[in-house]
Amino acid sequence: MPPVPIRFNVRTDFRKELQARVNAYLDGCGRPVRAPFAMYRKSFILLVWMAASYTGLVFFSTVWWEALAFSVSLALSVAGIGFNIPHDAGHGSYSRSAVINRVMAFFFDLMGASSYVWHHKHNVLHHGFTNIPGVDDDINVGVFGRLAPQQKHYAFHRAQHYYLWVLYGMTTLKWQWVDDYMNVATGRIGQAEIERPKGFELALFILGKLAWGSLFLAIPLVLHPVLTVLIWYLVTNLVLGVVIAVVFQMAHTVEEADFVPPPPGAPVERVANEWAAHQVATTVDFARGNRLWTWYLGGLNYQIEHHLFPSVSHIHYPDIAPIVQEVCGKHGLEYNFHPTLRAAIASHFRWLREMSRPPAIIPA
Ligand SMILES: [Zn+2]
Repeated sequence: MPPVPIRFNVRTDFRKELQARVNAYLDGCGRPVRAPFAMYRKSFILLVWMAASYTGLVFFSTVWWEALAFSVSLALSVAGIGFNIPHDAGHGSYSRSAVINRVMAFFFDLMGASSYVWHHKHNVLHHGFTNIPGVDDDINVGVFGRLAPQQKHYAFHRAQHYYLWVLYGMTTLKWQWVDDYMNVATGRIGQAEIERPKGFELALFILGKLAWGSLFLAIPLVLHPVLTVLIWYLVTNLVLGVVIAVVFQMAHTVEEADFVPPPPGAPVERVANEWAAHQVATTVDFARGNRLWTWYLGGLNYQIEHHLFPSVSHIHYPDIAPIVQEVCGKHGLEYNFHPTLRAAIASHFRWLREMSRPPAIIPA
């Protein structure tokens, strides 16, 4: 049963040509669709970075500025792992092996976010129904902010382009302490129904919570006072939450991205656009030429390509992007990107400011 009663329009020539062109590239590029060696090497570097940061923070920090440096480093390394290892594995683009993908997806659980819930929230709802208010949970920050024109405006949203940056720091804390349990207990994410984990998946859910709790709370508590652990746990998660949230926002909640309310029409609502064209309309690339960002973000700066080809390793995205851009141009679809990270952040700020105004006084 689909999670929400929404359908897209039927396939178009755009999607057929895009698929054919990208298939031709993948057939001729000489590298596998999933690039295991490059991913293992990258995973190793990220995991060593995280292990060194964790060891420094938990076992060797003696003064506050050492702990701060290791805490920020730990947060950045954990974010890098999230962008590259479990995110790709969840999409099945890390390895050809379903078992390896499931094992690698478990890194989300080690970060305190259930990979089971992530699959439904990200792979099904966000990727399937991008920027559709009420369904795509990534544009839902509750009453705290208004990210889409269709969302209700409250007076305090007037200042959201300033305060939301701080609230983004709550992202992983909310996953760890509220969302995962609520989603599993209620069998719902927003308006969508999800199947509750059973058997092996339920065991993994519990194991993940225990492993995360041991790593980030129990072991530090054996060695340090409660307040010290609490402070650095919060600092690490605040940095991690801001980084993860801002990376997402730069791709979907900027001025160029569309927000598409599904047209009413029971029992099945049909989005006017075809699915691939919808992905292009609701997604924006950023900092495409920057190799460092491309490496660290696991290709999430090529978000259009990621949404169109989530099961293709992100190693290919820089080569696929010109093809996508050309086919979009040929079919009259607007392909949006920000040249730099800074430009994307500035656009997100301006979008938040626009959404902070009550709907009636937004200039036409
Ligand atoms: Zn994704």
